[in-house]
Amino acid sequence: MKKRIVYVYGAFLFAILGLLTACPKSNVNADAEFDKYKEAFVLRLWEMNPGWASGSGYHKYDSVLVVPDKERQSKEREFIQKELDQLNQFESEELADANQIDYKLIKNYLDASAWELAFFKSGEWNPSNYNICGGFAEMLANNYAPLDERLRNFSIRLKNVPAYYKAAKANIKNPTKEHTQLAIEQNRGGLSVFTADLPASLEKSTLSTKEKNVLLARSKAAQNAIEEYASWLEKLPNPNPRSFRIGSKLYAKKFGFDIQSDNSAKEIYQSALIHKKELHQKMVKISRQIWNKHMGSKAMPENEYELVKQLIDQISLQHTQPDNFQKDIEKQIPELEKFVKQKNLIYLDPKKPLVVRREPDYMAGVAGASISAPGPYDKGGNTYYNVGSLNGWPTERSESYLREYNDYVLQILNIHEAVPGHYTQLVYSNNSPSIIKSIFGNGAMVEGWAVYTELMMLENGYKNSPEMWLMYYKWNLRTTCNTILDYSVHNLGFSKEQAMNLLVNEAYQQQAEAEGKWKRATLTQVQLCSYYTGFTEICSLRKELMKKQGKNFSLKTFHEKFLSYGSAPVRDIRELMLSKN
Ligand code: ZN
Ligand code: ZN
Repeated sequence: MKKRIVYVYGAFLFAILGLLTACPKSNVNADAEFDKYKEAFVLRLWEMNPGWASGSGYHKYDSVLVVPDKERQSKEREFIQKELDQLNQFESEELADANQIDYKLIKNYLDASAWELAFFKSGEWNPSNYNICGGFAEMLANNYAPLDERLRNFSIRLKNVPAYYKAAKANIKNPTKEHTQLAIEQNRGGLSVFTADLPASLEKSTLSTKEKNVLLARSKAAQNAIEEYASWLEKLPNPNPRSFRIGSKLYAKKFGFDIQSDNSAKEIYQSALIHKKELHQKMVKISRQIWNKHMGSKAMPENEYELVKQLIDQISLQHTQPDNFQKDIEKQIPELEKFVKQKNLIYLDPKKPLVVRREPDYMAGVAGASISAPGPYDKGGNTYYNVGSLNGWPTERSESYLREYNDYVLQILNIHEAVPGHYTQLVYSNNSPSIIKSIFGNGAMVEGWAVYTELMMLENGYKNSPEMWLMYYKWNLRTTCNTILDYSVHNLGFSKEQAMNLLVNEAYQQQAEAEGKWKRATLTQVQLCSYYTGFTEICSLRKELMKKQGKNFSLKTFHEKFLSYGSAPVRDIRELMLSKN
Protein backbone atom coordinates (compact mmCIF):
# COMPACT_ATOMS: atom_id res chain seq x y z
CA MET A 1 0.00 0.00 0.00
CA LYS A 2 1.00 3.58 -0.38
CA LYS A 3 3.26 4.23 2.56
CA ARG A 4 2.84 7.35 4.55
CA ILE A 5 5.96 9.42 4.36
CA VAL A 6 7.31 9.50 7.87
CA TYR A 7 9.01 12.71 8.74
CA VAL A 8 12.08 13.29 10.82
CA TYR A 9 10.81 12.18 14.18
CA GLY A 10 8.04 9.87 13.07
CA ALA A 11 4.50 10.41 12.00
CA PHE A 12 2.53 13.09 13.67
CA LEU A 13 -1.17 12.53 13.27
CA PHE A 14 -3.44 15.45 13.79
CA ALA A 15 -6.15 15.48 16.35
CA ILE A 16 -8.99 17.72 17.21
CA LEU A 17 -7.45 21.11 17.34
CA GLY A 18 -8.87 24.32 18.53
CA LEU A 19 -8.95 27.51 20.45
CA LEU A 20 -9.79 28.67 23.90
CA THR A 21 -11.57 31.95 24.04
CA ALA A 22 -13.50 34.23 21.76
CA CYS A 23 -12.54 37.86 21.47
CA PRO A 24 -15.10 39.94 23.34
CA LYS A 25 -15.03 42.69 20.71
CA SER A 26 -16.19 40.43 17.93
CA ASN A 27 -19.55 40.55 16.28
CA VAL A 28 -21.63 37.71 17.73
CA ASN A 29 -23.90 37.44 14.72
CA ALA A 30 -21.05 37.37 12.27
CA ASP A 31 -19.44 34.56 14.25
CA ALA A 32 -22.66 32.57 14.40
CA GLU A 33 -23.06 32.95 10.64
CA PHE A 34 -19.47 31.98 10.06
CA ASP A 35 -19.80 28.91 12.25
CA LYS A 36 -22.72 27.80 10.13
CA TYR A 37 -20.75 28.40 6.96
CA LYS A 38 -17.81 26.37 8.27
CA GLU A 39 -19.97 23.42 9.11
CA ALA A 40 -21.58 23.40 5.67
CA PHE A 41 -18.22 23.97 3.98
CA VAL A 42 -16.72 20.89 5.60
CA LEU A 43 -19.61 18.73 4.43
CA ARG A 44 -19.19 20.02 0.88
CA LEU A 45 -15.46 19.47 1.12
CA TRP A 46 -16.03 15.81 2.01
CA GLU A 47 -18.56 15.35 -0.74
CA MET A 48 -15.96 16.66 -3.21
CA ASN A 49 -13.15 14.57 -1.70
CA PRO A 50 -14.50 11.18 -0.58
CA GLY A 51 -11.05 9.62 -0.12
CA TRP A 52 -9.87 12.44 2.10
CA ALA A 53 -13.16 12.22 4.02
CA SER A 54 -12.70 8.51 4.73
CA GLY A 55 -9.13 9.11 5.83
CA SER A 56 -10.39 11.76 8.26
CA GLY A 57 -12.94 9.39 9.75
CA TYR A 58 -16.01 10.64 7.84
CA HIS A 59 -17.37 7.52 6.16
CA LYS A 60 -20.47 8.65 4.30
CA TYR A 61 -18.71 8.48 0.91
CA ASP A 62 -16.66 5.34 1.41
CA SER A 63 -18.12 3.70 -1.67
CA VAL A 64 -17.10 6.56 -3.97
CA LEU A 65 -13.88 6.65 -5.99
CA VAL A 66 -13.43 9.91 -7.89
CA VAL A 67 -12.13 9.54 -11.45
CA PRO A 68 -9.58 12.32 -12.02
CA ASP A 69 -10.68 13.20 -15.56
CA LYS A 70 -11.17 16.57 -17.27
CA GLU A 71 -14.74 16.82 -16.06
CA ARG A 72 -13.54 16.42 -12.51
CA GLN A 73 -11.10 19.29 -12.94
CA SER A 74 -13.79 21.70 -14.04
CA LYS A 75 -15.89 20.56 -11.10
CA GLU A 76 -13.01 21.39 -8.80
CA ARG A 77 -12.55 24.83 -10.30
CA GLU A 78 -16.25 25.47 -9.88
CA PHE A 79 -16.15 24.31 -6.25
CA ILE A 80 -13.23 26.60 -5.45
CA GLN A 81 -14.86 29.63 -7.04
CA LYS A 82 -18.18 29.06 -5.29
CA GLU A 83 -16.52 28.67 -1.91
CA LEU A 84 -14.35 31.74 -2.41
CA ASP A 85 -17.47 33.74 -3.27
CA GLN A 86 -19.16 32.59 -0.10
CA LEU A 87 -16.11 33.28 2.00
CA ASN A 88 -15.88 36.79 0.59
CA GLN A 89 -19.22 37.64 2.11
CA PHE A 90 -17.63 37.65 5.55
CA GLU A 91 -15.55 40.50 6.90
CA SER A 92 -12.72 38.65 8.55
CA GLU A 93 -12.03 41.54 10.99
CA GLU A 94 -15.52 41.24 12.44
CA LEU A 95 -14.88 37.68 13.54
CA ALA A 96 -13.49 36.38 16.81
CA ASP A 97 -9.78 35.43 16.84
CA ALA A 98 -10.54 31.74 16.42
CA ASN A 99 -12.72 32.36 13.40
CA GLN A 100 -10.31 34.85 11.87
CA ILE A 101 -7.72 32.11 11.78
CA ASP A 102 -10.20 29.57 10.41
CA TYR A 103 -11.15 32.08 7.71
CA LYS A 104 -7.52 32.45 6.67
CA LEU A 105 -6.97 28.69 6.68
CA ILE A 106 -9.97 28.05 4.43
CA LYS A 107 -8.96 30.86 2.08
CA ASN A 108 -5.40 29.57 1.93
CA TYR A 109 -6.65 26.07 1.10
CA LEU A 110 -8.88 27.34 -1.72
CA ASP A 111 -6.18 29.62 -3.17
CA ALA A 112 -3.63 26.82 -2.99
CA SER A 113 -6.02 24.42 -4.76
CA ALA A 114 -6.70 26.92 -7.53
CA TRP A 115 -2.96 27.45 -7.95
CA GLU A 116 -2.33 23.70 -8.09
CA LEU A 117 -4.90 23.31 -10.87
CA ALA A 118 -3.75 26.29 -12.91
CA PHE A 119 0.01 26.40 -12.36
CA PHE A 120 1.56 23.64 -10.29
CA LYS A 121 -0.25 20.84 -12.13
CA SER A 122 1.43 17.99 -10.28
CA GLY A 123 -1.19 15.67 -11.78
CA GLU A 124 0.69 16.02 -15.08
CA TRP A 125 4.24 15.36 -13.93
CA ASN A 126 3.90 13.31 -10.75
CA PRO A 127 2.51 9.86 -11.61
CA SER A 128 2.64 8.84 -7.93
CA ASN A 129 -0.33 11.17 -7.36
CA TYR A 130 -2.35 8.27 -8.73
CA ASN A 131 -2.62 5.37 -6.36
CA ILE A 132 -5.80 3.90 -5.00
CA CYS A 133 -4.29 1.26 -2.73
CA GLY A 134 -3.95 3.23 0.51
CA GLY A 135 -7.63 4.11 0.69
CA PHE A 136 -8.67 0.50 0.16
CA ALA A 137 -6.13 -0.71 2.72
CA GLU A 138 -7.55 1.62 5.35
CA MET A 139 -11.05 0.28 4.76
CA LEU A 140 -9.82 -3.16 5.71
CA ALA A 141 -7.45 -2.16 8.52
CA ASN A 142 -9.64 0.30 10.43
CA ASN A 143 -12.49 -1.14 12.38
CA TYR A 144 -14.87 1.84 12.20
CA ALA A 145 -17.87 -0.18 10.96
CA PRO A 146 -18.86 -3.86 10.75
CA LEU A 147 -16.62 -5.78 8.34
CA ASP A 148 -19.45 -6.75 5.97
CA GLU A 149 -20.52 -3.14 5.62
CA ARG A 150 -16.95 -2.05 4.90
CA LEU A 151 -16.54 -4.83 2.33
CA ARG A 152 -19.76 -3.87 0.53
CA ASN A 153 -18.53 -0.30 0.19
CA PHE A 154 -15.13 -1.64 -0.83
CA SER A 155 -16.81 -3.58 -3.61
CA ILE A 156 -18.74 -0.59 -5.00
CA ARG A 157 -15.68 1.64 -4.78
CA LEU A 158 -13.68 -0.87 -6.84
CA LYS A 159 -15.90 -0.35 -9.86
CA ASN A 160 -14.21 2.92 -10.84
CA VAL A 161 -10.62 1.71 -10.58
CA PRO A 162 -10.10 0.98 -14.29
CA ALA A 163 -11.57 4.37 -15.24
CA TYR A 164 -9.40 6.00 -12.59
CA TYR A 165 -6.15 4.72 -14.10
CA LYS A 166 -7.35 5.46 -17.61
CA ALA A 167 -7.83 9.10 -16.61
CA ALA A 168 -4.43 9.09 -14.88
CA LYS A 169 -2.74 8.02 -18.10
CA ALA A 170 -4.55 10.71 -20.04
CA ASN A 171 -3.39 13.38 -17.58
CA ILE A 172 0.30 12.50 -17.50
CA LYS A 173 2.62 14.56 -19.67
CA ASN A 174 6.37 14.62 -19.46
CA PRO A 175 6.66 13.25 -15.91
CA THR A 176 9.86 13.37 -13.84
CA LYS A 177 11.92 10.18 -13.77
CA GLU A 178 11.93 10.17 -9.97
CA HIS A 179 8.17 10.39 -9.53
CA THR A 180 7.63 7.86 -12.30
CA GLN A 181 9.84 5.38 -10.50
CA LEU A 182 8.06 6.08 -7.22
CA ALA A 183 4.66 5.55 -8.82
CA ILE A 184 5.72 2.19 -10.24
CA GLU A 185 7.07 1.02 -6.87
CA GLN A 186 4.16 2.28 -4.80
CA ASN A 187 1.42 1.01 -7.08
CA ARG A 188 2.99 -2.42 -7.41
CA GLY A 189 3.67 -2.46 -3.66
CA GLY A 190 0.03 -1.64 -3.05
CA LEU A 191 -1.20 -4.72 -4.88
CA SER A 192 -0.82 -6.74 -1.67
CA VAL A 193 -4.02 -5.09 -0.42
CA PHE A 194 -5.89 -7.13 -2.99
CA THR A 195 -3.76 -10.27 -2.98
CA ALA A 196 -3.24 -10.65 0.79
CA ASP A 197 -5.38 -8.31 2.95
CA LEU A 198 -8.62 -8.70 1.00
CA PRO A 199 -8.73 -12.52 0.96
CA ALA A 200 -7.97 -12.54 4.71
CA SER A 201 -10.84 -10.13 5.37
CA LEU A 202 -13.23 -12.03 3.11
CA GLU A 203 -12.56 -15.15 5.09
CA LYS A 204 -13.76 -13.44 8.27
CA SER A 205 -16.82 -11.89 6.65
CA THR A 206 -20.33 -13.28 6.30
CA LEU A 207 -20.96 -11.97 2.78
CA SER A 208 -22.88 -14.34 0.52
CA THR A 209 -20.96 -16.37 -2.03
CA LYS A 210 -22.45 -14.26 -4.77
CA GLU A 211 -21.35 -11.01 -3.15
CA LYS A 212 -17.88 -12.43 -2.62
CA ASN A 213 -17.59 -13.47 -6.24
CA VAL A 214 -18.65 -10.07 -7.51
CA LEU A 215 -16.13 -8.44 -5.21
CA LEU A 216 -13.33 -10.76 -6.29
CA ALA A 217 -14.05 -10.13 -9.97
CA ARG A 218 -13.87 -6.37 -9.40
CA SER A 219 -10.70 -6.82 -7.40
CA LYS A 220 -9.15 -8.75 -10.29
CA ALA A 221 -10.05 -5.96 -12.72
CA ALA A 222 -8.57 -3.40 -10.33
CA GLN A 223 -5.33 -5.37 -10.00
CA ASN A 224 -5.06 -5.55 -13.77
CA ALA A 225 -5.56 -1.81 -14.05
CA ILE A 226 -2.86 -1.13 -11.45
CA GLU A 227 -0.36 -3.51 -13.04
CA GLU A 228 -1.13 -2.09 -16.45
CA TYR A 229 -0.53 1.44 -15.16
CA ALA A 230 2.84 0.42 -13.71
CA SER A 231 3.99 -1.26 -16.91
CA TRP A 232 2.68 1.62 -19.01
CA LEU A 233 4.85 3.95 -16.92
CA GLU A 234 7.84 1.67 -17.34
CA LYS A 235 7.53 1.75 -21.09
CA LEU A 236 6.50 5.39 -21.41
CA PRO A 237 8.77 7.13 -23.92
CA ASN A 238 10.10 10.13 -22.02
CA PRO A 239 13.15 11.43 -23.90
CA ASN A 240 13.23 14.80 -22.10
CA PRO A 241 11.82 14.16 -18.65
CA ARG A 242 10.85 17.15 -16.60
CA SER A 243 13.26 17.97 -13.77
CA PHE A 244 12.21 17.09 -10.25
CA ARG A 245 13.44 20.55 -9.26
CA ILE A 246 10.41 22.79 -9.31
CA GLY A 247 12.37 26.04 -9.74
CA SER A 248 12.26 29.35 -7.88
CA LYS A 249 8.94 30.64 -9.15
CA LEU A 250 6.84 27.64 -8.20
CA TYR A 251 8.86 27.11 -5.04
CA ALA A 252 8.23 30.61 -3.71
CA LYS A 253 4.49 30.17 -4.27
CA LYS A 254 4.34 26.71 -2.75
CA PHE A 255 6.31 27.91 0.25
CA GLY A 256 3.76 30.67 0.70
CA PHE A 257 0.79 28.27 0.65
CA ASP A 258 2.31 25.43 2.64
CA ILE A 259 4.16 27.36 5.33
CA GLN A 260 2.12 30.57 5.53
CA SER A 261 5.05 32.55 6.85
CA ASP A 262 5.83 36.24 7.11
CA ASN A 263 9.17 35.42 5.55
CA SER A 264 9.93 34.38 2.02
CA ALA A 265 11.59 31.06 1.25
CA LYS A 266 14.80 32.92 0.44
CA GLU A 267 14.82 34.76 3.76
CA ILE A 268 14.36 31.52 5.67
CA TYR A 269 17.12 29.88 3.64
CA GLN A 270 19.51 32.74 4.44
CA SER A 271 18.61 32.59 8.10
CA ALA A 272 19.30 28.84 8.10
CA LEU A 273 22.76 29.42 6.61
CA ILE A 274 23.65 31.83 9.40
CA HIS A 275 22.20 29.50 12.02
CA LYS A 276 24.27 26.61 10.67
CA LYS A 277 27.44 28.65 11.06
CA GLU A 278 26.54 29.55 14.65
CA LEU A 279 25.84 25.91 15.49
CA HIS A 280 29.22 24.88 14.10
CA GLN A 281 31.01 27.44 16.24
CA LYS A 282 29.22 26.30 19.37
CA MET A 283 29.95 22.65 18.62
CA VAL A 284 33.65 23.28 18.12
CA LYS A 285 33.85 25.26 21.36
CA ILE A 286 32.20 22.53 23.43
CA SER A 287 34.25 19.82 21.76
CA ARG A 288 37.50 21.52 22.75
CA GLN A 289 36.24 21.78 26.33
CA ILE A 290 35.35 18.14 26.79
CA TRP A 291 37.86 16.46 24.50
CA ASN A 292 40.14 15.18 27.22
CA LYS A 293 37.31 13.98 29.39
CA HIS A 294 36.15 11.58 26.66
CA MET A 295 39.26 10.95 24.58
CA GLY A 296 41.94 10.91 27.26
CA SER A 297 45.37 11.66 25.95
CA LYS A 298 44.47 11.19 22.31
CA ALA A 299 45.67 14.19 20.33
CA MET A 300 43.00 16.71 19.44
CA PRO A 301 42.54 16.82 15.63
CA GLU A 302 43.34 20.16 14.06
CA ASN A 303 40.55 19.82 11.59
CA GLU A 304 37.41 21.16 13.29
CA TYR A 305 35.11 18.77 11.50
CA GLU A 306 37.17 15.78 12.66
CA LEU A 307 37.25 17.12 16.20
CA VAL A 308 33.50 17.35 16.51
CA LYS A 309 32.86 14.15 14.59
CA GLN A 310 35.12 12.02 16.77
CA LEU A 311 33.54 13.34 19.94
CA ILE A 312 30.01 12.77 18.68
CA ASP A 313 30.94 9.20 17.74
CA GLN A 314 32.41 8.61 21.18
CA ILE A 315 29.48 10.05 23.13
CA SER A 316 27.00 8.15 20.93
CA LEU A 317 28.33 4.93 22.44
CA GLN A 318 26.36 5.79 25.58
CA HIS A 319 23.05 4.26 24.70
CA THR A 320 20.38 1.91 25.99
CA GLN A 321 19.92 -1.74 24.98
CA PRO A 322 17.25 -3.02 22.58
CA ASP A 323 15.22 -4.69 25.34
CA ASN A 324 15.15 -1.53 27.44
CA PHE A 325 14.27 0.89 24.67
CA GLN A 326 10.58 1.22 25.51
CA LYS A 327 11.10 1.09 29.29
CA ASP A 328 13.64 3.91 29.08
CA ILE A 329 11.30 6.09 27.10
CA GLU A 330 8.46 5.38 29.53
CA LYS A 331 10.67 6.29 32.46
CA GLN A 332 11.52 9.68 30.98
CA ILE A 333 7.97 10.99 30.58
CA PRO A 334 7.35 11.59 34.33
CA GLU A 335 10.81 13.16 34.62
CA LEU A 336 9.97 15.60 31.87
CA GLU A 337 6.61 16.43 33.46
CA LYS A 338 8.22 16.97 36.82
CA PHE A 339 10.79 19.33 35.36
CA VAL A 340 8.19 21.35 33.45
CA LYS A 341 6.19 21.83 36.65
CA GLN A 342 9.21 22.59 38.81
CA LYS A 343 10.41 25.29 36.43
CA ASN A 344 6.91 26.60 35.83
CA LEU A 345 7.24 26.35 32.05
CA ILE A 346 3.67 25.53 31.05
CA TYR A 347 0.55 24.10 32.70
CA LEU A 348 0.15 20.36 32.08
CA ASP A 349 -3.34 18.97 32.45
CA PRO A 350 -3.09 16.04 34.92
CA LYS A 351 -6.35 14.59 33.61
CA LYS A 352 -4.78 13.88 30.22
CA PRO A 353 -1.89 11.51 30.81
CA LEU A 354 0.04 10.20 27.85
CA VAL A 355 -0.30 6.49 27.16
CA VAL A 356 2.96 4.89 26.05
CA ARG A 357 2.50 1.71 24.03
CA ARG A 358 4.47 -0.58 21.78
CA GLU A 359 3.77 0.51 18.25
CA PRO A 360 0.91 -1.51 16.76
CA ASP A 361 1.71 -4.00 13.99
CA TYR A 362 0.23 -1.97 11.16
CA MET A 363 2.77 0.76 11.92
CA ALA A 364 5.67 -1.64 12.22
CA GLY A 365 8.87 -0.74 10.48
CA VAL A 366 8.53 2.88 11.47
CA ALA A 367 11.14 2.81 14.16
CA GLY A 368 11.46 5.54 16.70
CA ALA A 369 8.56 7.21 18.33
CA SER A 370 5.42 8.94 17.18
CA ILE A 371 2.22 10.37 18.54
CA SER A 372 -1.14 8.98 17.37
CA ALA A 373 -4.04 11.19 18.14
CA PRO A 374 -7.73 10.65 17.43
CA GLY A 375 -9.06 12.27 14.26
CA PRO A 376 -11.74 14.98 14.10
CA TYR A 377 -14.55 12.41 14.13
CA ASP A 378 -13.15 10.26 16.91
CA LYS A 379 -13.33 12.56 19.89
CA GLY A 380 -13.32 9.91 22.60
CA GLY A 381 -10.24 8.19 21.23
CA ASN A 382 -6.97 7.88 23.15
CA THR A 383 -3.74 9.63 22.35
CA TYR A 384 -0.81 7.25 22.23
CA TYR A 385 2.91 7.53 22.27
CA ASN A 386 3.97 4.72 19.94
CA VAL A 387 7.41 3.35 20.58
CA GLY A 388 8.98 1.15 17.95
CA SER A 389 10.31 -2.18 19.07
CA LEU A 390 13.79 -3.26 18.06
CA ASN A 391 12.85 -6.93 18.48
CA GLY A 392 14.17 -9.10 15.72
CA TRP A 393 16.49 -6.45 14.31
CA PRO A 394 19.94 -7.64 13.31
CA THR A 395 22.50 -6.54 15.92
CA GLU A 396 24.28 -4.22 13.53
CA ARG A 397 21.12 -2.37 12.64
CA SER A 398 19.92 -1.93 16.21
CA GLU A 399 23.40 -0.86 17.34
CA SER A 400 23.53 1.85 14.70
CA TYR A 401 20.00 2.91 15.55
CA LEU A 402 20.74 3.10 19.28
CA ARG A 403 23.88 5.14 18.67
CA GLU A 404 21.74 7.61 16.79
CA TYR A 405 19.16 7.62 19.61
CA ASN A 406 21.81 7.59 22.32
CA ASP A 407 21.18 8.54 25.95
CA TYR A 408 21.22 12.24 25.07
CA VAL A 409 19.29 12.27 21.83
CA LEU A 410 16.62 9.97 23.26
CA GLN A 411 15.77 12.68 25.79
CA ILE A 412 15.54 15.31 23.06
CA LEU A 413 13.29 12.98 21.10
CA ASN A 414 10.98 12.64 24.10
CA ILE A 415 10.84 16.40 24.58
CA HIS A 416 9.98 16.77 20.89
CA GLU A 417 7.35 14.05 20.61
CA ALA A 418 5.85 14.12 24.07
CA VAL A 419 6.39 16.67 26.83
CA PRO A 420 6.24 19.59 26.28
CA GLY A 421 6.40 19.02 22.47
CA HIS A 422 3.75 17.46 20.21
CA TYR A 423 1.74 15.83 22.95
CA THR A 424 1.41 18.94 25.09
CA GLN A 425 0.53 21.04 22.06
CA LEU A 426 -2.17 18.54 21.19
CA VAL A 427 -3.75 18.70 24.64
CA TYR A 428 -3.96 22.49 24.36
CA SER A 429 -5.45 22.46 20.89
CA ASN A 430 -8.02 19.85 21.97
CA ASN A 431 -9.36 22.16 24.63
CA SER A 432 -11.64 23.85 22.18
CA PRO A 433 -11.96 21.90 18.98
CA SER A 434 -12.08 23.51 15.56
CA ILE A 435 -12.61 21.11 12.72
CA ILE A 436 -11.06 23.59 10.30
CA LYS A 437 -7.79 23.52 12.21
CA SER A 438 -7.88 19.77 12.44
CA ILE A 439 -8.20 19.58 8.64
CA PHE A 440 -5.91 22.45 7.63
CA GLY A 441 -3.68 22.72 10.72
CA ASN A 442 -0.34 24.37 10.01
CA GLY A 443 2.51 21.87 9.91
CA ALA A 444 5.23 24.49 10.37
CA MET A 445 3.64 25.66 13.62
CA VAL A 446 3.18 22.09 14.90
CA GLU A 447 6.74 21.01 14.05
CA GLY A 448 8.16 24.39 14.97
CA TRP A 449 6.68 24.12 18.46
CA ALA A 450 8.18 20.67 19.01
CA VAL A 451 11.60 21.86 17.81
CA TYR A 452 11.33 25.00 19.93
CA THR A 453 10.62 23.01 23.10
CA GLU A 454 13.90 21.10 22.68
CA LEU A 455 15.84 24.34 22.98
CA MET A 456 13.57 25.77 25.66
CA MET A 457 13.98 22.77 27.96
CA LEU A 458 17.75 22.86 27.64
CA GLU A 459 17.85 26.62 28.20
CA ASN A 460 16.04 25.99 31.45
CA GLY A 461 18.63 23.47 32.51
CA TYR A 462 17.08 20.12 31.67
CA LYS A 463 19.82 17.47 32.15
CA ASN A 464 22.31 20.25 31.69
CA SER A 465 25.76 19.16 30.52
CA PRO A 466 28.13 20.04 27.68
CA GLU A 467 27.47 16.59 26.19
CA MET A 468 23.74 17.25 26.14
CA TRP A 469 24.26 20.56 24.38
CA LEU A 470 26.65 19.07 21.84
CA MET A 471 24.12 16.40 20.91
CA TYR A 472 21.34 18.95 20.85
CA TYR A 473 23.29 21.13 18.42
CA LYS A 474 23.84 18.16 16.18
CA TRP A 475 20.12 17.42 16.30
CA ASN A 476 19.22 21.03 15.57
CA LEU A 477 21.74 21.09 12.75
CA ARG A 478 19.73 18.36 11.06
CA THR A 479 16.59 20.49 11.15
CA THR A 480 18.53 23.49 9.88
CA CYS A 481 20.15 21.55 7.05
CA ASN A 482 16.78 20.15 5.98
CA THR A 483 15.84 23.69 5.03
CA ILE A 484 19.13 24.44 3.34
CA LEU A 485 18.94 21.19 1.39
CA ASP A 486 15.35 21.63 0.21
CA TYR A 487 15.86 25.21 -0.87
CA SER A 488 19.17 24.49 -2.59
CA VAL A 489 17.85 21.45 -4.46
CA HIS A 490 14.81 23.19 -5.87
CA ASN A 491 16.17 26.70 -6.38
CA LEU A 492 19.92 26.46 -6.83
CA GLY A 493 20.32 23.20 -8.73
CA PHE A 494 22.21 21.49 -5.89
CA SER A 495 23.73 18.22 -7.14
CA LYS A 496 23.66 15.00 -5.18
CA GLU A 497 27.36 15.45 -4.39
CA GLN A 498 26.70 18.89 -2.95
CA ALA A 499 23.82 17.50 -0.92
CA MET A 500 25.96 14.69 0.46
CA ASN A 501 28.69 17.12 1.36
CA LEU A 502 26.22 19.26 3.27
CA LEU A 503 24.62 16.38 5.16
CA VAL A 504 27.62 14.16 5.81
CA ASN A 505 30.49 16.64 6.10
CA GLU A 506 28.66 19.59 7.59
CA ALA A 507 25.83 17.96 9.54
CA TYR A 508 27.57 14.77 10.76
CA GLN A 509 24.99 12.43 9.25
CA GLN A 510 25.51 8.80 8.31
CA GLN A 511 25.68 8.03 4.60
CA ALA A 512 22.42 6.05 4.67
CA GLU A 513 20.53 8.81 6.41
CA ALA A 514 21.88 11.39 3.99
CA GLU A 515 20.90 9.27 0.98
CA GLY A 516 17.37 8.99 2.33
CA LYS A 517 17.19 12.73 2.83
CA TRP A 518 18.40 13.39 -0.71
CA LYS A 519 15.70 11.09 -2.05
CA ARG A 520 13.07 12.86 0.01
CA ALA A 521 14.21 16.25 -1.30
CA THR A 522 13.86 15.02 -4.87
CA LEU A 523 10.31 13.74 -4.29
CA THR A 524 8.85 16.50 -2.10
CA GLN A 525 9.09 20.26 -2.02
CA VAL A 526 8.95 22.74 0.87
CA GLN A 527 7.86 20.27 3.58
CA LEU A 528 11.47 19.82 4.74
CA CYS A 529 11.52 23.56 5.54
CA SER A 530 8.62 23.44 7.98
CA TYR A 531 10.63 22.43 11.06
CA TYR A 532 13.20 25.17 10.92
CA THR A 533 10.80 27.85 9.71
CA GLY A 534 8.31 27.26 12.54
CA PHE A 535 11.15 27.05 15.06
CA THR A 536 12.82 30.25 14.04
CA GLU A 537 9.52 32.13 13.86
CA ILE A 538 8.56 31.07 17.38
CA CYS A 539 11.98 32.11 18.68
CA SER A 540 11.60 35.54 17.03
CA LEU A 541 8.10 36.02 18.41
CA ARG A 542 9.34 35.21 21.89
CA LYS A 543 12.16 37.70 21.52
CA GLU A 544 9.75 40.38 20.34
CA LEU A 545 7.43 39.82 23.27
CA MET A 546 10.29 39.79 25.78
CA LYS A 547 11.43 43.13 24.47
CA LYS A 548 7.94 44.56 24.50
CA GLN A 549 6.92 43.27 27.94
CA GLY A 550 10.25 43.67 29.69
CA LYS A 551 10.15 42.37 33.25
CA ASN A 552 6.48 41.48 32.89
CA PHE A 553 7.32 38.76 30.40
CA SER A 554 6.49 35.29 31.68
CA LEU A 555 7.62 32.22 29.78
CA LYS A 556 4.69 30.21 31.11
CA THR A 557 2.13 32.80 29.99
CA PHE A 558 3.80 33.04 26.59
CA HIS A 559 3.63 29.28 26.04
CA GLU A 560 0.04 28.92 27.18
CA LYS A 561 -1.16 31.87 25.16
CA PHE A 562 0.75 30.75 22.09
CA LEU A 563 -0.77 27.27 22.20
CA SER A 564 -4.27 28.54 22.92
CA TYR A 565 -4.71 29.53 19.26
CA GLY A 566 -4.49 25.94 18.09
CA SER A 567 -2.42 24.74 15.13
CA ALA A 568 -2.53 28.05 13.30
CA PRO A 569 0.30 29.58 11.26
CA VAL A 570 2.84 31.31 13.54
CA ARG A 571 2.35 34.43 11.41
CA ASP A 572 -1.33 34.64 12.39
CA ILE A 573 -0.70 33.83 16.05
CA ARG A 574 1.97 36.52 16.11
CA GLU A 575 -0.40 39.12 14.72
CA LEU A 576 -3.02 38.34 17.37
CA MET A 577 -0.54 38.12 20.24
CA LEU A 578 1.19 41.37 19.41
CA SER A 579 -2.05 43.28 18.96
CA LYS A 580 -3.12 42.32 22.46
CA ASN A 581 -0.03 42.89 24.53
ZN1 ZN B 1 26.79 0.09 21.54
ZN1 ZN C 1 7.72 16.40 15.03
